Formats: sequence, C-alpha cells, structure tokens
Amino acid sequence: MDEQKKVVTRFAPSPTGLFHAGSYRTALFAYIFARQNNGKFILRIEDTDKMRSTKEYEDNIIESLKWLGLSYDEFYRQSDRTEIYKKYIKKLIDSGHAYVSEETPKEAGDRAEVIRFKNPNKKVAFDDLIRGKIEFDTTELGDFVIAKSIDEPVFHLVNVVDDYEMGMTHIIRGEDHISNTPRQILIFEAIGAKPPIYAHIPLLLGKDRSKLSKRKGAISMTEYRNRGFLPEALVNYMALLGWHPADDIEVLSLEQIIKDFTLDRVQKAGAIFDEEKLQWFDRQYISKLSDNDFHSKASAFIPEWLKTDSVRLNRCIVLLREKVSSFGEIPKLFEADGELGFVKELKSYTPDMLLWKKNPSKEAAAANLKQASESLEAIPDDSFTAESIKNSIWKYAEEKGKGDVLWPLRMALTGQDKSPDPFNSAFILGKVESLTRIKYALEKLS
Ligand code: GLU
Repeated sequence: MDEQKKVVTRFAPSPTGLFHAGSYRTALFAYIFARQNNGKFILRIEDTDKMRSTKEYEDNIIESLKWLGLSYDEFYRQSDRTEIYKKYIKKLIDSGHAYVSEETPKEAGDRAEVIRFKNPNKKVAFDDLIRGKIEFDTTELGDFVIAKSIDEPVFHLVNVVDDYEMGMTHIIRGEDHISNTPRQILIFEAIGAKPPIYAHIPLLLGKDRSKLSKRKGAISMTEYRNRGFLPEALVNYMALLGWHPADDIEVLSLEQIIKDFTLDRVQKAGAIFDEEKLQWFDRQYISKLSDNDFHSKASAFIPEWLKTDSVRLNRCIVLLREKVSSFGEIPKLFEADGELGFVKELKSYTPDMLLWKKNPSKEAAAANLKQASESLEAIPDDSFTAESIKNSIWKYAEEKGKGDVLWPLRMALTGQDKSPDPFNSAFILGKVESLTRIKYALEKLS
C-alpha cells in the first residue's frame, strides 16, 4: 500500500537568521517533488530553540517563500505543539525507550535532570535517494538528549514526531543533516513508525568551492529581492544548482521544471553558486518582459522625480531594458555620476569639453551643433524618436565626420562623456529640452 501513499514533503527551517539560497533551494526541491507527485508541501517552523528563534525571521521565511512563488498546503509552528510532543515523550518513557536522567550540572544554567533516549546501540542503514546506501553504528552517539524537560523537547524529537504526525513520505533536506539521520531513525523506530524516504541534497559552495555561508558573502533572499532580482530568475537558477534537465536547456519556468525534475538527476557533489550566472538568468527574464511589465516591476527602483514625469520615464524604459541585468541597477544609473544622470539635470561642463579631440576647433563644433539643432527642429513633435533623430543627422555626420558632429552633440545634451548615444539622449530629453541644451552649448562656444 505504501506506493500509493500521497507524497508529503516539507520545508522545516529554524527561524534563527536570514537564509541564503542554500536553504531556499532545499525548499524548492521539496516543493517541486511534492507538486510533481500531486502531493502536499508543508511549511514547518522549527522554533524549539527559544533563545535564537524570532518572529521576525519566521515572517521573513513566509514572505520569501511567497515572493518566490512556493506555496504550501499546511503550516505548523513547533512552539504551538508542545502538548503533542509531551504525549510522545511520556510514551517513550513509559515504553522504556527514554528515561529521566539525573545530571551533574557543569556550569550555571545546566539542568539537574534531562530526558535521554535509550540508545539500543545498533547499526542503522537507510537508502538515500541521492547518496545511496548509508550505514551508521549508533553506539558512539550514546543516550542522547531528546528533551530538557517534559515541556521542552529538543530538535531530534520534535523533528521526528512532526514528520510522523504530518505523514511525511520524503525528507528532502541539506546533506548537513545526514549525521542527524541515525538518531532520528532510532526515534522513528521507538515510536513504532517506519522512517520516511530520505534525499539529502548537496551543499551550495561559493566560487572558491568552500561552503556557502553568511560570512563568506552569501546573501539572503531578502537582499536579492531588494536588489531587484526577479523571483523567476532565482527559482530557475536555484533549481539548476545540483540538478540539470536531460536536454540541458537552462531557461525553464517553474512549471517546466516541475515536469522535468527527477531526484535521481540530483548530483552528489556540491553545487557552485555563481552570482554572475544568476545575473545572466535575471537578464533572460527581464528581456522577456513586455514594456508594461518591465515598467511595473521596475517601479520600486525608479527614482521618484522620474515617476512624476511619465513621458520621460516611458522614453527611458527602452534604454533601461538594454542596460540592466537586474532592476537594482536602475537607481545608480540616474545618480549624478550615472550614465543617465543627465536626464534629471545637465551636468556642468567647460566649453573645451564640447570639442572633438581629433579636431578641437570651436568653429567646427559650433557649426555642427547649429546644423544638428536645425535638423532636430525640423522633426515634427509627434515623431521625435531616437530613430528619426538619427536619420535627420546621420548623413551630415558622415560627411563632416561622425566624431565632429556627434561628440559636441552628446556633450551638449548630457554634459557627460559616459552617456547613451546622442539620438537616445535627445529622444529621452524631448525636443524642447534638447534644443534648449544645444542653444546653451552654442552660447558657451561663442
Ligand atoms: N530545522 C532544521 C534546520 O533548519 C531542518 C531539519 C530538517 O530539515 O529535518 O536546519
């Protein structure tokens, strides 16, 4: 009958900090496996460590899962379930699988009494779906603590009781938990339950192949969100950390991944987290957005002053789409020394800067700017686009020398050498502002 049991998986984080991609990839794999089997995915907050668990971190986990689009079917919090654990502790004591142990307190705060599991000291083995057969002799684990008191169960006990009570069929978690599995299997057996199937997924490594950790610069989901990454890009990239589809096509929607994913294609070796690759994915997803979607998703990153100027903002969108690989790069572009700083304000520049380096003649610069001004002026207001601007000047620029014509124009429009081409700059500024800036440049030259 076991084969027909509905698949149940879970994400069981301890809310003791902000999590990086490693934890959310674990959640993602458990989610995918549940969904592809029409099973159930549970979020369980493991907050028995009262000193280190906070509501704030719990909220952050909930928000991050929501942002990533990983919905769960049931939600539990271990601190709400003390009565359930108490029942199991009593049962274990009554059946001789656990006992109240008198302790000699070594330092302040140590208990004089704890509840220990009576270790049968035997070999346990399990077939890990990713790592194959794993065998342990539990003798060296001794009689380990399962509760500090009847009301204060600790990790191994609550973890097992919940997995049993919640009908977990598959435990998909990080391989740092492999060493916990033998104790947990012993507890499963003691409460008369069959252990679930385990799949321990490889750790995430930094580019230097060391374990990804906060100290090593791993950043939280919240930070990726604040930096403007698209959740679709993160989900896609995380799914490929340790797993790859048979045909090696990389850009995949979550639905597609749910169709293609198999646990047996998950590798044993650690997977390297490469932020540049994440950026590449983000770019792929940004490029697929319609202008409207780009606009609304980028909104939080658009400077307020530009939002009040919707005409100009719309003109910036095309350029932004080309320039950024995540929305978080947008604010910098509009800062005074950013490439699009000129949109808000013309940077101050000296007349010399208007001169093309290969032909630093004031007369030539002035004549070319004048011609450019006339050409722009002649474009009807309603067809003042980067393309029409280019068409109106291009032939002249080719005749007189591109640098001779386009350099002074770029400087006149933006006051900065690092800026978009003058056609796009003029388009963004609009006809009136462009002509005003050119006029100002001509005054500087006279
Ligand atoms: N609460 C544990 C942790 O955050 C997870 C335990 C498990 O997945 O079994 O590491």
